[in-house]
Amino acid sequence: MAYDLDADSRLAEAEGLALAIGIIVAESFVLPVREVRPNLLFGAGQVENIRIACEQDEAELVVVDGALSPIQQRNLEEKLERKVIDRTGLILEIFGERAATAEGRLQVELAHLDYQQSRLVRSWTHLERQRGGFGFLGGPGETQIEADRRMIRQRMGRLRKELEQVRKTRGLHRERRERAPWPVIALVGYTNAGKSTLFNRLTGAEVMAEDLLFATLDPTMRAIALPGVEKAILSDTVGFISDLPTQLVAAFRATLEEVTAADVICHVRDMSNPSSDAQKKQVLQVLADLGVVGEQGEGSEIPILEVWNKLDLLSNEERAELEEVASADKDVVAISALTGEGIDDFLSRVDAILTAGSREHEITLE
Ligand code: GDP
Repeated sequence: MAYDLDADSRLAEAEGLALAIGIIVAESFVLPVREVRPNLLFGAGQVENIRIACEQDEAELVVVDGALSPIQQRNLEEKLERKVIDRTGLILEIFGERAATAEGRLQVELAHLDYQQSRLVRSWTHLERQRGGFGFLGGPGETQIEADRRMIRQRMGRLRKELEQVRKTRGLHRERRERAPWPVIALVGYTNAGKSTLFNRLTGAEVMAEDLLFATLDPTMRAIALPGVEKAILSDTVGFISDLPTQLVAAFRATLEEVTAADVICHVRDMSNPSSDAQKKQVLQVLADLGVVGEQGEGSEIPILEVWNKLDLLSNEERAELEEVASADKDVVAISALTGEGIDDFLSRVDAILTAGSREHEITLE
């Protein structure tokens, strides 16, 4: 899922990811790595600068927006006297919090164990090499690392079996449909596109009684009132992330599976982002992989409303151009989730789509 992002956008995205799981970012900066140091990744001077920044900010955690080897992670933790996690670790935390379906949770746990396992194996090999070979492997006194490895392997085996079982029964019924007596609106889009802002604006501070039904199941679902269909469930999904580590792709897709049970998909796009077209392509590709749209983004089974967000950040000309295109296309609506502009228009579009599709919804519920 890689595409080119400049250093500042990438840093903003990483901050957004950290915020998504409640990490308060005290400071963030770009450190050029000209030569990768096997022990610490960064040069000694850079590590010292990080340490000073940590002291000043009284930071508890350092997030490196890149891949750390287990050795680099351990050495950095020693030098900085703080917990250090890398990009994969951070993303796994987010997926873990956001996986809503049984399959999603299993996939994420599997990815987590796989990540842990690779780290154990590699730090083990490294330690052994330092001691001069694998002399006592298999002998008496199994090490802790070996025991951990075995436990992880067993747990992964069990999870794979469970996953198979869940997949077998999935086609027979859709959890979401059974739980939700009202149409479901799913918000999808890249991290930082403005999904949470829109979600909060639409749901407001008030909590409907119906929310209590869902609150314990999934904090990212809320009931909202619409004139035509009366009520709908708004469901926020985990955001797309640029440069997703490959071993996390399956886990990410599984967390998104819930969109296949939605009645309308609202694709929130940050139109002020220069990469917004490339981002759109990737979103459509994943929706195609999930079987929601065809390979070229066509023939969607579920109506997709493109929500062009962050209108307020555009120049007058850009804005006029976008608004003209949006008003001529029934599948596009231009808004600012921050200022609230265009929200009424957005709601009436969603309402119209749901009203048109309500017959199908009733049939599915029977
Ligand atoms: P998410 O990752 O898709 O949930 O994105 P968020 O809702 O967290 O928004 C990411 C950032 O964009 C936040 O700093 C928001 O305040 C900002 N944002 C969201 N919508 C708008 C908008 O319409 N205009 C502007 N100027 N900023 C926005």
